[in-house]
Amino acid sequence: MTKTLTDPVGELAGVGPARQKALVELGINTVADLLTYYPFRYDDLQVKDINEIADQEKVTLKGTVASEPVLVRFGRKKNRLNFRLLIDHDVYMVTFFNQPYLMKQIETGQALAVYGKWDAKRSSITGMKIINPNNAEEAFGSIYPASKSIKQGTIQKLVKQAYEAYQDSIVDVVPEPLIAKYRLLPRQQMIHDMHFPISQEASAAARRSATYEEFLMFQMQMQVLKRSDHDTDGIAIHYDNERLKAFIKTLPFELTHAQKRVVNEICLDLKSPKHMNRLLQGDVGSGKTIVAAIVMYAAITAGYQTALMAPTEILAEQHANNLARVFADTPVNVALLTGSTKPAARKTLLAALAAGEINLLIGTHALIQDGVDYANLGLVITDEQHRFGVNQRAAFRQKGGQPDALAMTATPIPRTLAITAYGEMDVSEIDELPAGRQPIQTTWVRSNQADNALVFVRKQLVAGSQVYVVTPLIEESETLDVKNAEALSENLQTYFAPDYTVGLLHGRMKPEEKEAVMADFKAGKIQLLVSTTVIEVGVDVKNATVMMIYDADRFGLAQLHQLRGRVGRGQKASYCILVADPKNQQGIERMQIMTETTNGFVLAQKDLELRGSGEVLGVKQSGMPSFKVGDPIADLNVLQVAQQDAHAIVATPKWDQQPENQALAHYLKGKLAAVGTLD
Ligand code: ADP
Ligand code: MG
Repeated sequence: MTKTLTDPVGELAGVGPARQKALVELGINTVADLLTYYPFRYDDLQVKDINEIADQEKVTLKGTVASEPVLVRFGRKKNRLNFRLLIDHDVYMVTFFNQPYLMKQIETGQALAVYGKWDAKRSSITGMKIINPNNAEEAFGSIYPASKSIKQGTIQKLVKQAYEAYQDSIVDVVPEPLIAKYRLLPRQQMIHDMHFPISQEASAAARRSATYEEFLMFQMQMQVLKRSDHDTDGIAIHYDNERLKAFIKTLPFELTHAQKRVVNEICLDLKSPKHMNRLLQGDVGSGKTIVAAIVMYAAITAGYQTALMAPTEILAEQHANNLARVFADTPVNVALLTGSTKPAARKTLLAALAAGEINLLIGTHALIQDGVDYANLGLVITDEQHRFGVNQRAAFRQKGGQPDALAMTATPIPRTLAITAYGEMDVSEIDELPAGRQPIQTTWVRSNQADNALVFVRKQLVAGSQVYVVTPLIEESETLDVKNAEALSENLQTYFAPDYTVGLLHGRMKPEEKEAVMADFKAGKIQLLVSTTVIEVGVDVKNATVMMIYDADRFGLAQLHQLRGRVGRGQKASYCILVADPKNQQGIERMQIMTETTNGFVLAQKDLELRGSGEVLGVKQSGMPSFKVGDPIADLNVLQVAQQDAHAIVATPKWDQQPENQALAHYLKGKLAAVGTLD
């Protein structure tokens, strides 16, 4: 049988069912996946000069074994192997812990290289491994993301084995003219050098080629999807403009110019027979929900059903309550479906949905589960798009028809980046806040001044306002976060008793408990709400005027901005208090910029400048695809170039039949079929 890169990893010797499962969990299904499972770093095992080494630095030293190795056992399983290494004219002690089998490899007089940690005080090295100094490939230890079920060493071995067995099947997928234009490495060499570089330069060159290839493949997918969207006829939603205008007149406020503009953009898409796939960006509080309501109303006047999907139950419920009010005097029939909808209610609801009696279904992921069947779905909207994976679009499509899709996000991703990375979407932007909003005054205090801040908080409570307090984060531990939140809420309750009531909201609570707390807060029965970050998105309580955030430097700017957006929603002046003791200059600057601007896009840009890589929170959470090699921020220019190139390729008539594009077309076909996006 001929070998192809699409062979399942199970084909490799030594990969049984258990190992295969572990690999699949890492996203490695095929040999191709394994070969593009790149190291995230290289332990530089190149031999170093002893005079250039810092204390505790990991280095490779090359010398001659100057004494018989001695093995000392202590404890039941522990042991230590010592020998001396002659480097130039000095002798250094080398110690290996718990690797007794190395005895056999060490002989007096033999040339040897040891990789380990340098102890400057003792002029000794704690060995980690013995390497063959003449093998340059081995001198760069490739380190892969491993998992509990599959070890580093196993992955290294498998990659090597896969490369050896399949190297002749690796063909170029980037079209030849582009390889020449950018002086990229042939794919076979690129893959080789990604895993087994012989120098820093080789590794950098491979990474450069791999980044371009990855971005080009991504942009090609986007372009092909975009084309297939526009080629396949979507639905032309002929809404009733008079009814729509009348509905807009019933709203308690005048739309902002920006809201009017985006409503028009979306309505044009609705009317057109093309399939709409649009991203609506707007800062927190810019009024995206009402835009959603208006365009859903439009679709409903044309006889279609609409769905609004939110990332959390709290948000879904809030939307349901709001929209029930907004649509109170209309024939729109609003329903809510979440994970906690009771079986009996769910059954009735699904029957009504299938019969077309419900025009607007609001909910969580429950909306795209099996068994949820729509009569004639015309428009789907996802709120806080960044919380979902990218493929819910495909899931909605499987619900039948070709519903138009609108995704809303408050994540302030810089525009260039959004347009490039959401390559397949059109973008609308609300760049204006409703009139009369008071800017939120932000202050930053050190933790030893937090008590003063509480005095201020009390003043606000006395004035009849409500307050959010976000609790400190504890490293990666939800349990500890909850404990922390509980302790803080008790302290605050003691502090403010008996005048004010403190409530607590955290991620471990049952949906109905959360809902009860939120309802009490909205109704003013609770004046101060302590919360982990579950309140982050979308919650809307106009009477809340203070957002106090502990450990503020632990959050990304985008997230702080989201949290701050919970206040300043009504006519009252609002405040954000950041409590933080940043440990470095960058942390200080991040706190300062928060006090200086409330513009989400300025903040996003600043976050980029300060952190300058894929670390930017907003981007990681934005639902953007994650790349294996390329960094959409640091390598933004490459991403843009790849977009232009992909665009040019697809614009060529019969591009997929050109000889130079054969491999590319073939590759894409496999990709798109795999994600189920080609119907
Ligand atoms: P977001 O864009 O963050 O989702 P929302 O849609 O929740 O913002 O709107 C924030 C608040 O502003 C809501 O209480 C909403 O009723 C109100 N609002 C929306 N548009 C306007 C407007 N044009 N004028 C006044 N208030 C508005
Ligand atoms: Mg919102």
